[in-house]
Amino acid sequence: MMQAAVLLKPGKLEIRETPVPPCPQGGVIVKVKACGICGSDAKMIQSGHRALVYPRILGHEIAGVVAESRIKNFREGDRVQVAPGLRCGKCFQCRKGMDNQCENRGILGFTFDGGFAQYVAVPLEGPIVGALNILPENVGYADATLVEPIACSINAQEKAASAEGDTVLIIGAGPLGLIHCFVARLRGAEKVIIGEIRKDRRKTAGNSWADMVLDPEKGDLLEMIMNETNGRGIDVIIIACSQVGINDGFLKLLTPGGRLSLFSGIASRSCDCRLDSNLVHYNEIVITGAYGCTASQNARAVQLISAGKFPLGELITHRCSLMNIEEGIEHTSSRKGLKSILEVEK
Ligand SMILES: [Zn+2]
Ligand SMILES: [Zn+2]
Repeated sequence: MMQAAVLLKPGKLEIRETPVPPCPQGGVIVKVKACGICGSDAKMIQSGHRALVYPRILGHEIAGVVAESRIKNFREGDRVQVAPGLRCGKCFQCRKGMDNQCENRGILGFTFDGGFAQYVAVPLEGPIVGALNILPENVGYADATLVEPIACSINAQEKAASAEGDTVLIIGAGPLGLIHCFVARLRGAEKVIIGEIRKDRRKTAGNSWADMVLDPEKGDLLEMIMNETNGRGIDVIIIACSQVGINDGFLKLLTPGGRLSLFSGIASRSCDCRLDSNLVHYNEIVITGAYGCTASQNARAVQLISAGKFPLGELITHRCSLMNIEEGIEHTSSRKGLKSILEVEK
């Protein structure tokens, strides 16, 4: 048996004994060492999700050690990061390299049981498969929980084509906003600006992440941005806050050829928007979505962390055990700190 945080229905999370999942034929059982608690986990625990089937073990930012293997590429004791997306590898989307949009996809911690438990099963051969990345020696389990969020940011910025010399505006200085800041820099951005309404988060962002931090509620955003960019505007805007609906105001911040990335899912009351399509037309604006990440983006994120490209130290502001996971969820949903991670004892 194992301990797991099981979501029985929206609002009802229970720490209980549950059987260790059987090792999939052509797959592994990973003993969870650490698992990040994502904003989407907090949201799903609170209010459920239409695609969730209960009972469900959430958690998709998983790092651990292989406890049992029924596939030859991995053996017991391997330290791994789990890329949470499961894909078929055969459908049209998979063949295009967009396995995060696989027609037969599954997600560990969402449609399959995930990492808020002592063990998680990962299929690696068969109709739908996940992926494991071996952790280089210099990447600890706690840092490895940040691989998936970094991979999601890479996905968004590839879609938005952030590039050398760009000025990038990120809306929201939560953990993902800060990660975006860094991904933009790695892709050659010349200037990164973060807009955030919370004072504490502006402070962190200003310390070592963004070139400029502003409060979008203090004054006219268009004026602030044009002053800051010598009237040129922004190349890429990334919405990394679920509370901000988009409107023409954002389109007006963009330079011709600018890109707007809808990285965050937007709270349903704000997702219905009307845009001036002529602004898109005349200024050749690209509006793009981004959802999850591919297996290869996970692998690249592991390499970036290992190469020391991310100042990850500041991102993890809370750690909890399985027994007090509620505290971690509260830390995430209160937005008081940044990232909370679950560390699974023994
Ligand atoms: Zn997440
Ligand atoms: Zn597929």
